[in-house]
Amino acid sequence: MKKIFFFCICNKKYSLFSNYEKNITINICKNCHPYYTKKKNLLDASKKMKSFNKKYETFFKKK
Ligand SMILES: [Zn+2]
Repeated sequence: MKKIFFFCICNKKYSLFSNYEKNITINICKNCHPYYTKKKNLLDASKKMKSFNKKYETFFKKK
């Protein structure tokens, strides 16, 4: 086993131990994979929704 590196097109660099002797370039990784970025966006969206709800919660309470 040898430590090799693989590089993603998003400039992320990973290292791993492998029997493969060469460094690898990959097109997608957990940093730029749509599933992960989508999840992140969803989290951001839910955060926004929460602050939105808070804003209107106080608004309706005042009324
Ligand atoms: Zn990537």
